[in-house]
Amino acid sequence: MSRRIIPFTKSQIVKLSKKHSTPFYVYDEKGIRDTAEELLAAFSWNSRFKEYFAVKALPNPSILRLLKKSGLGVDCSSLAELLLAERTGFTGEEIMFTSNNTSAEEFQKASALGAIINLDDITHIAFLEKHAGLPELVSIRYNPGPLKKGNSIIGNPIDAKFGFTRKQVFEGYKMLLEKGVKRFGLHAMVASNELDENYFIETASMLFDLAIEIDKKLGIKLVFINIGGGIGIPYRPGEKRVNLNKVSLGIRKLYKDRNLFPLKLAMECGRVITGPHGYLVSRVIHKKDTYRKYIGVDATMANLMRPGMYGAYHHVGVLGKENDRLSHTYDVTGSLCENNDKFAIGRKLPRIEVGDLLVIADAGAHGHSMGFNYNGKLRSAEFLLTPKGSFKMIRRSETVEDYFATLDF
Ligand SMILES: *Cc1c(COP(=O)(O)O)cnc(C)c1O
Repeated sequence: MSRRIIPFTKSQIVKLSKKHSTPFYVYDEKGIRDTAEELLAAFSWNSRFKEYFAVKALPNPSILRLLKKSGLGVDCSSLAELLLAERTGFTGEEIMFTSNNTSAEEFQKASALGAIINLDDITHIAFLEKHAGLPELVSIRYNPGPLKKGNSIIGNPIDAKFGFTRKQVFEGYKMLLEKGVKRFGLHAMVASNELDENYFIETASMLFDLAIEIDKKLGIKLVFINIGGGIGIPYRPGEKRVNLNKVSLGIRKLYKDRNLFPLKLAMECGRVITGPHGYLVSRVIHKKDTYRKYIGVDATMANLMRPGMYGAYHHVGVLGKENDRLSHTYDVTGSLCENNDKFAIGRKLPRIEVGDLLVIADAGAHGHSMGFNYNGKLRSAEFLLTPKGSFKMIRRSETVEDYFATLDF
């Protein structure tokens, strides 16, 4: 039942691993493009709908160019992400800049690129004005606080550091209006890895009501509402994909009932676009039998932090043993000197031998990008599996020289 369809074969990976040592990431170009286009198609009723891909999920120029071709924009939250967007050809309002605790330098770069600046705090109005000037279009990030429940990854809005309170939203737009800002957007991101379609419909409903109130109280007709990212993916067996059409239809009904045309809708999903189409490939280098049975692989939590950081589940497959019985129970571990460096705990798997290649699924978002260098671990290479079945290296692996490059011996 936990079989997964993977877009490559064992022999392809064996061949690749002879040239490039494991661990490495593989991303499925076709899967990414199809999902991006599926999201756009679902919302095509909203003629100016825009999906700004959350760069932090998979910050690689080849991926960003691919998404640009499909018609996506980008959502950036740091200087480096803005520079990456710029260097891959994004400009102006194709870029949404949603950051928090933002530096002057970041606002200046976002402003120079003509990005849509989404403010996280009311004090940032004066800060932005002072350091970069106020653009003609400004967006406000709303935090509904006690009015909305969040979920386990992002927590409840009332405890989240992001966004303006409800009262500040009104004060903020009023200030912006007085300072001569001409066009306004509204944003909220209150869920992460959420699988319930209704959650997104409820978020849209909340924002639509707020938009109507903003119009009534301040006479502002918003140009867009960005309902954030946070669409989840079925990491665990038995979980179901979010039905994007269901989300879209629910939102469409609210939009029509409230007569919101020509308000533009936007999203900034990362995970749902690339997450299911990325794989971390790693080789078994040891087996250890003590109080528990361990499979030691050559990847670590420094390559994929999610399981260690929030106990996230990732499907683990053994190449060539897809049809074997799940006869053994293992912990799959990396080599960090941290006991949470585990990809799976007490997982039912086929019998595994040293040398086997493991594929950790759903690693295409918040995977490589969350990597780090603790314990002197080096970040791995990334490959794009093209629709023709070839592997294109889109990032080389780090070397010890890279690791030492900032040091003075
Ligand atoms: C992380 C983040 C996203 C993307 O979240 P996903 O779960 O990858 O869809 C979008 N917007 C903001 C502001 C974020 O911080």
